[in-house]
Amino acid sequence: MTQRLTTSAGCPIADDNNSISAGRRGPLTFDNFQLFEKLAHFNRERIPERVVHARGTGAYGSFTLSRSLSEYTRADFLQHLGDETEVFVRFSTVGGGQDSSDYARDPRGFAVKFYTREGNFDVVGNNTPVFFLNDPQKFPDFVHSQKKNPRTNLPDAARMYEFWANHPQSLHQMTILMSDRGIPLSYRHMNGYSSHTLGFWNEQGERYWVKFHFKTDQGIRTVTNDEAQSLPAHGAQQDLVEAIDFGEFPSWTVKVQILSEEQARSFPVNPFDLTKVWPHKLAPLIEIGKLTLNRNVDNYFAETEQATFAPSNLVPGISASPDKMLQARLLAYQDAHRYRVGVNHNQLAVNAPRCPVNHYQSDGSSTGIQNGEVNYYPNDQRDLPRPDPSVQAPPLPLLGDAWVGTFSQDDEDYFSQAGELFRLMNPEQQGQLFDNIGGGLAQATPSAQERMLDFLNRADPNYAQGVLQAMRQHVPAANTA
Ligand code: NDP
Repeated sequence: MTQRLTTSAGCPIADDNNSISAGRRGPLTFDNFQLFEKLAHFNRERIPERVVHARGTGAYGSFTLSRSLSEYTRADFLQHLGDETEVFVRFSTVGGGQDSSDYARDPRGFAVKFYTREGNFDVVGNNTPVFFLNDPQKFPDFVHSQKKNPRTNLPDAARMYEFWANHPQSLHQMTILMSDRGIPLSYRHMNGYSSHTLGFWNEQGERYWVKFHFKTDQGIRTVTNDEAQSLPAHGAQQDLVEAIDFGEFPSWTVKVQILSEEQARSFPVNPFDLTKVWPHKLAPLIEIGKLTLNRNVDNYFAETEQATFAPSNLVPGISASPDKMLQARLLAYQDAHRYRVGVNHNQLAVNAPRCPVNHYQSDGSSTGIQNGEVNYYPNDQRDLPRPDPSVQAPPLPLLGDAWVGTFSQDDEDYFSQAGELFRLMNPEQQGQLFDNIGGGLAQATPSAQERMLDFLNRADPNYAQGVLQAMRQHVPAANTA
């Protein structure tokens, strides 16, 4: 039977093509409430675009555990071999708006929501194991410098390099971004990383530090700047949607690196510095399972656009770490969602946990589910929700005699790991790196060029030399002294 068209209040609609007017050629009348509802709703179809990671695509799938992690964590979904957990994954570029190209030279967001039996656990990661910064104070400045010039509204390499030249901590991530891996062929052909260090804690209350790695089973495939120019703007989105529609389900092998608290204390790099990796030979990768995407969304806006990932979505057995960037994201992500989607965003189907939700929060815009008359705690009703002390994380140890204050990280070594990555690359990859940096750096001021070349030289003299030559090819007259 044909379904009847209705208003959003469910009332049947007789005519959805013609407005009510005073006669055939007369003006429209004030009783056009169906027209008004349609236009008013249309005016409100857009919600604020994400300031970063605006252009994205998402899909559902599952995570299957192949190794129990019970010795490290009590996290319910990491206990039993073969355990399957539903996931929603959203991939994105970072800097561009909703309709920008999928083939920008830009990091890719790789956000995974695990719908576990004890609540949602979100890994809000990237396709890079590190980030440009290790202090959140600098985040808005960084993003401003990488986005379009506010006067011309055009991309502006000089501003990007000016920021990088003032921040040696960005060198490692900049090297990844400017390498051959800087433009993935598709979202299926790239790795994902938690990037942050997270905490694990087990039934005995012992704490470990952990990093998640999602290694693509499709192989790494990338494109050059020139190839990217000829690809359709929405190509990566189309690739993912079609692969899943055709039953070619993309998968990633999930691995972790784990350090005990004791190992972390004597680790040669600061394990909470987001600009650094944990070298594999010091913290080997442990395979723990498979992530597979097998179902497209039914509605892009309802699901992908309104998906709200948050690093503060942590389940018992998994905690945050003292990583300063992570600490700020614990606040900033939920705050962005409250502004962009609304205070009750976790009630939307894509964000709603697959387990019971019991709390005493009340009201707010678009409340869909509300508990009964007792909206306060403690209360005297024994059958109403109460905290469970058994899910209390162990206390976080501070290093030595801790003082509250601002702590400069200027004395960190920001060059060695960038140099190690450079030396991993073959000559062809190094050539692409030189060219990609040379083209942008040639547009920067002489002072920014000089500081960047000094950073590159400290990573590896051949790195600086190669970039210098590439810059001269791009702008022969550039001041590269
Ligand atoms: P390893 O030789 O054990 O690992 C090197 C890693 O580098 C591999 O995971 C490889 O990924 C990855 N890689 C290779 N080329 C690139 C590229 N252009 N951009 C990004 N990643 C790339 O070395 P270490 O663990 O000692 O690390 C050395 C350097 O490798 C680091 O300084 C870092 O820049 C980079 N790296 C390290 C990672 C880590 O967690 N230790 C993770 C990713 C990069 P794949 O296996 O997919 O080819």
